[in-house]
Amino acid sequence: MLFSIIKNRIEQGYRTSKYPNEEIKLPERFKGKPEINSNCEQKIAELCASNCPQDAIDPKEKTIHLGKCVFCGLCEELSNGSFIKFSNDFELAVTDPEQLIYDGMIEKLEIHAKKHFKKLFGRSLQLRQVSAGGCNACEADLNVLNTPFFDLSRFGIQFVASPRHADGIIVTGPVTRNMKKALLKTYEAIPDPKIVIASGSCAISGGPFRGNPEQLNGVDGILKVDLYIPGCPPHPLTTLHALLTFFK
Ligand code: SF4
Repeated sequence: MLFSIIKNRIEQGYRTSKYPNEEIKLPERFKGKPEINSNCEQKIAELCASNCPQDAIDPKEKTIHLGKCVFCGLCEELSNGSFIKFSNDFELAVTDPEQLIYDGMIEKLEIHAKKHFKKLFGRSLQLRQVSAGGCNACEADLNVLNTPFFDLSRFGIQFVASPRHADGIIVTGPVTRNMKKALLKTYEAIPDPKIVIASGSCAISGGPFRGNPEQLNGVDGILKVDLYIPGCPPHPLTTLHALLTFFK
């Protein structure tokens, strides 16, 4: 029995990714940072905007709101790639909500990483995850970060059960009215200084639930957000890149 476990372990080898020291190439089908052709025909931009289920496209300015977009790919399909084409670049996180209005350029997150956050949380970052009415996709992909492939704890980053042990919260879901009080109480229980991360289009803008009276269109109406991580759900690498760049 013991020998078969050891044999199995040797055969399996080392499975943890070497990211960020080695690049990870995501498959072609992954929809990451969009490329926008600002010279495309106006009627094509308008066609995409009128069909976008998230109302995320401004056809005049030729921009996409990355916090509203659910990366469904319909605009790429409708424009046959002539207006919007998704790359597999997963580096999407921003610190300023205005940067979510995307015209083809995102400033590097490194530029906005705050030195005092790095000093405070660079060696150890403990996060309390709050699911504020999400569908569980964002929560599931955060959980993937704890698997042996990503092994989040090797970077000194961990999800903790109690807000009293946390340095901040990572919020998923559009913040339903029923979850508002729980979210605020969790935030209050975290000792200062603390950070707030909005993960996924629901936590940033309400996502597909935007406008529904039973939810609050995301977390930044009630708490100041330090880091926005777009996606529906954000790929684990999008989250990992954001955490390492912003805090390490
Ligand atoms: S990929 Fe985003 S911008 Fe394009 S149609 Fe879907 S939700 Fe709208």
